[in-house]
Amino acid sequence: MKNKFLTLFVTAIFCSCFSFAQGDPKLTEVWTPEPIKVQPGKTNSDAPSDAIILFDGRNLDEWVSTKDSTKPALWTVAKKAITVKKGTGNIQTKKSFTDYQLHIEWRIPANITGSGQARGNSGVFLAATGPGDEGYEIQVLDNYDNKTYVNGQAASIYKQAVPLANVCKKPGEWQSYDIVWTAPRFNEDGTIKTNGRITALQNGVLVQNNVEVNGITVYIGKPYYKKHGAAPIKLQDHGDPSEPISYRNIWVREL
Ligand code: MG
Repeated sequence: MKNKFLTLFVTAIFCSCFSFAQGDPKLTEVWTPEPIKVQPGKTNSDAPSDAIILFDGRNLDEWVSTKDSTKPALWTVAKKAITVKKGTGNIQTKKSFTDYQLHIEWRIPANITGSGQARGNSGVFLAATGPGDEGYEIQVLDNYDNKTYVNGQAASIYKQAVPLANVCKKPGEWQSYDIVWTAPRFNEDGTIKTNGRITALQNGVLVQNNVEVNGITVYIGKPYYKKHGAAPIKLQDHGDPSEPISYRNIWVREL
């Protein structure tokens, strides 16, 4: 009994000394400013309340042709999806963005043919810095059962970063990308101040983890930076002979 009392006494002394050493917990509490309230979508596909809808299944009103941004985007809209219309070129958003969170879904057609890079090739360019394929590309390709160079497979930052996993679904199934893009910042003289960064999930699985990009995507040679500001998001008409791919549920949250 005496021992039990002593143990309790020592424990009480120890606890009070410990909390004294820790100080007042209120000193480390932050109450303002409160985070903005955002109503989440019902599913991961649905846009949250503060998102800018880039495609809701109806039309290409938020998109233009990359070749001539005064002209409408000519890809096909049917069954709540956009499908690449070969030969019409890349399309890009009317709006320009800097840092953002993007949700986009894509589908390789079930009857896809071809191999390597010529099997459902398209791409999401996170900032269209110039004509054609200029920008920072996250690859779209069928790699469910299709080998290619790993820094060019689906979910790669094309020719810069290999995805952490291959989480491709079978052709014919819808897949998603959730991408966080931190745009590069430039000095007055055009030199790079801070590199761009990409975090990406494919079908809910982390595939790029805060990866620093070394410049715009190039097919041959090394990436390089070229000063730019806010830029559109662009989708690629790659022009390979296989069946064209489709996109849907596209929305963005500016950060
Ligand atoms: Mg591509």
